[in-house]
Amino acid sequence: MKSLREYLALWSYTFGKSDILQYLNELRQLERLTVSDQLTLQQHHLLHLLEYADHYIPYYHDLFREIGFRPKDFSANPATFSQIPLLTKEIIQQNYEKFITTEPEKREQLIKIKTGGTTGEPLWLMQDPTYRAYNTAHVYQEMTWSGWQVGQPQTWLWGHPVVGAPSPVPGWLRFKDWLANRTESNAFHITDQSMELLARHLEQQPGGVLWSYVSTLYRFARFLEERGRTIRLRAAYTAAEPLYDAQRAYIENVLRCPVFNSYSCVEIGSIACECEQHQGLHIRPRNCYVEVLRDGTPTPDGEEGEFVLTTLTNYGFPLIRYRIEDWGRKTSRACPCGRGAPLLEVVEGRIIDHFRAPDGKLVWGAFVIPMMPLLGPIRQYQIVQQSETLLVFRVVKDGDLALEKFEDIRQAVRKVLGETVEARLEFVDSLPASPTGKHRYTVSEVQ
Ligand SMILES: [Zn+2]
Repeated sequence: MKSLREYLALWSYTFGKSDILQYLNELRQLERLTVSDQLTLQQHHLLHLLEYADHYIPYYHDLFREIGFRPKDFSANPATFSQIPLLTKEIIQQNYEKFITTEPEKREQLIKIKTGGTTGEPLWLMQDPTYRAYNTAHVYQEMTWSGWQVGQPQTWLWGHPVVGAPSPVPGWLRFKDWLANRTESNAFHITDQSMELLARHLEQQPGGVLWSYVSTLYRFARFLEERGRTIRLRAAYTAAEPLYDAQRAYIENVLRCPVFNSYSCVEIGSIACECEQHQGLHIRPRNCYVEVLRDGTPTPDGEEGEFVLTTLTNYGFPLIRYRIEDWGRKTSRACPCGRGAPLLEVVEGRIIDHFRAPDGKLVWGAFVIPMMPLLGPIRQYQIVQQSETLLVFRVVKDGDLALEKFEDIRQAVRKVLGETVEARLEFVDSLPASPTGKHRYTVSEVQ
């Protein structure tokens, strides 16, 4: 039996966001198809994207001519796809304008977004409304795998970067969230008070779903356990960081609900997510085409390699054969749930440390990342907390920087960590990689 609130939320989707419901419906039909039917359909979407890119995306228009690639060759022989060179973050940074569609109608609807990237290099991208609606539909479908239904409560312990003076959330946005039965809590600024508010909210709204970053959710679970609080969630969804077995067991034990691990990023959206069987992460074949390569060659199923991804819904700014800089393996093992999408095992994720404020609170280090593009052309950076009152920004320059903008970052650091915390900028020629070869972009040296 739906509550009045749930009816209202469902009504707001039916009339305000019908495209999301339409895509969700498409995804539900898709998930019941066999593996081979899903892959056939995916090839069709891929071909359509290649034809569009050839026509409307200057970067691909030029590239395809340069390498002699024609989408109709792909149609005859899908193996020709591997002729397209891999796409790096650097190529996108250097050719940003050429990745934007020239189709006038679509161009007008684009939204510009920035990401810290997975290796500390700031990256600007565009998203079109179709991609955004598809992405929400993917996320909602993942939530239905826990038994959640559109309209039921959803809570996001998620990111809100602080730049300059704090701006209040506009009333219409709060109303929109209320109507959708959606609540947000700022994961970049966690205090005992904010966790108390969140706990109280979840106690009053049983049966919902909570999304969070792994480390943030773990911290919230610690908070609940220390205070003997019990919340009644349907499921918790984790993203953005590797989820270790011990963390999962602890969170599930304290929250008394299953944890669904997911794999996504700003550039691509939803890539893979666990179903209710928790046997691996199902690839989202309508959203992206996943290749696993080693030295440029596809690895056999079950063997580790580098993920190379192609977006299938963001025609406004398509990424084809994009190196996300994460590692893992595809497996042909069937999931007992019967869904056709292959399983993905992500073995290398992003590494983000927490920073400790002088008053003892822990802040997820990612809060500074969206601000880094303010400085201008940066090749790489790493933010190191050397003491409770000193954050060092090590930057490898890629041109002249807007140094006066560092004052905004300095202020944000003081606002989040405390007035006595100093942010210092240092220029270096290169940055060390972690033992796994992965770049760590926030590091805490504080015990
Ligand atoms: Zn499954």
